[in-house]
Amino acid sequence: MNNIFARRRARLLAMKAIRDNYIPGDRLVSCPRCGGESQRKDVAGNLSVCPLCGYHFPIGAYYRLSTVLDPGSFRELNEKLPAADPLCFPSYREKQRSAQRKTGLTEAAVTAVGTIGGRKCVVGVLDSRYLCGSMSAAVGEKITLAIEYAAKNKLPLILFSASGGARMQEGILSLMQMAKTSAALARFSEKGLLYISVLTDPTTGGVTASFASLGDIILAEPGALIGFAGPRVIQQTIGETLPEGFQRAEYQEEHGFVDAVVPRGELRETLSRLLQLHEKGGRP
Ligand SMILES: [Zn+2]
Repeated sequence: MNNIFARRRARLLAMKAIRDNYIPGDRLVSCPRCGGESQRKDVAGNLSVCPLCGYHFPIGAYYRLSTVLDPGSFRELNEKLPAADPLCFPSYREKQRSAQRKTGLTEAAVTAVGTIGGRKCVVGVLDSRYLCGSMSAAVGEKITLAIEYAAKNKLPLILFSASGGARMQEGILSLMQMAKTSAALARFSEKGLLYISVLTDPTTGGVTASFASLGDIILAEPGALIGFAGPRVIQQTIGETLPEGFQRAEYQEEHGFVDAVVPRGELRETLSRLLQLHEKGGRP
């Protein structure tokens, strides 16, 4: 019976992942970094990484989950948590509906419980295709519920960030999510549990200033933009030219903000290894 459910869950995630692993373009996909053109199937088969230069295309939440979780282990948490418009902000509902149609998501975060290398964990993913992965009250609530679920069940937590920051249309309610998610992580940490934060392109604003920076271990994908304010704003404020590669994952690793830059193809293995090393009695 368990096998039937596992197969069903594997099929469900695979179907959602196929929709997510879509890069605009026809048969050929052009890379925004090297400008080279590759066959769509070659890019899709390479975890949406440019085969010519290694550029990491943005990917959807379900596809991301399918690349790290063991097949058949995926079980979504709080799938039905609805998007809201607490301030009745003009044209916000239409923007949400359009993002929902485009992505098939209800909000910019997907959270799930599953296994990586056979070890159970809670995984949350922000999806930059949904209003730039910005943090609404619903996103903050979903992330907080995932943290609390992991704390209650004594499971390790992995959060993938990809966000433009706060959701402007929700004003102060969006900013409050920074404190809410951080407080939940503090309670999680008091239990001595492991939290791995994975920063993907782009991780900025209120998400950087809250849960994305609070990992016990912070990983990043190559080339990801990681910062609070964007480089243009900083340059205009301080009136100085910024160094080459400023705020990119490699720069942040060099300056100690990121523990390791891990290519997408090695993430699953790296996470599996970290979970193994941090479990009770875990050995290399
Ligand atoms: Zn390229």
